Amino acid sequence: MSSAQSTADYETLLKRLQEKLGNTAGKAKARLEIPTPQIIWVGKNTIFRNFMDFPKALRRDPEKILLYLNKELASAGYIQGERVIFLGRKTPSSFNALLDRYVKDYVQCPVCGSPDTRTEKSKKLGFLLCEACGARSSIKGNYA
Ligand SMILES: [Zn+2]
Repeated sequence: MSSAQSTADYETLLKRLQEKLGNTAGKAKARLEIPTPQIIWVGKNTIFRNFMDFPKALRRDPEKILLYLNKELASAGYIQGERVIFLGRKTPSSFNALLDRYVKDYVQCPVCGSPDTRTEKSKKLGFLLCEACGARSSIKGNYA
């Protein structure tokens, strides 16, 4: 009897746990996994070691993301393999902030917040097309 009792308890617990995990998984799916920028200084330059992870994760053109970073950092960084070399010493934390802002302005759907978007050009204007809710929003800048 007592073993049947504990089995039932276990099943209840398991069900509760699965519900919890299910909810977390649902949320994680909508959220974007942004890699952590790996920034190092070499001499007077700043090297963004895992730059290429970002165009892949965000599904954006590497050149556009680079253009954005160069404008915001007032630099002339260039792609070298997986990395970008920026001239001058840039604060590592500024990359986090800039990439967060890039995601907000050029990747996330302003209507539903989904990162599953693609861009479209129409008459020189950029648009964000959301694959989750179908919204079509205009993009301010020219960096997506
Ligand atoms: Zn949306």
